[in-house]
Amino acid sequence: MELVCPLCNGLDKVHKICKICQEPMEDKGALVNYYDDYSPYLLDEITSKVDGVAQNQCLHHYRCEKCGYEENIAIDREIF
Ligand SMILES: [Zn+2]
Ligand SMILES: [Zn+2]
Repeated sequence: MELVCPLCNGLDKVHKICKICQEPMEDKGALVNYYDDYSPYLLDEITSKVDGVAQNQCLHHYRCEKCGYEENIAIDREIF
């Protein structure tokens, strides 16, 4: 058994609605995938947002393609 993020493993989908324009937001993937980016600003932002997120949660980055609104959603990892 393993604690895995259902979104990262394609086992589940979480649909978020943009709070600005009510359009469906797109899952841009887990935030950990962004750690490879060479952007100190982005890294700072992630670090501050990851604070307070439980170890058994996976942060996903959602973005509304219509208005550009972005949100990070903490997804609970599940045992498979
Ligand atoms: Zn994930
Ligand atoms: Zn929007």
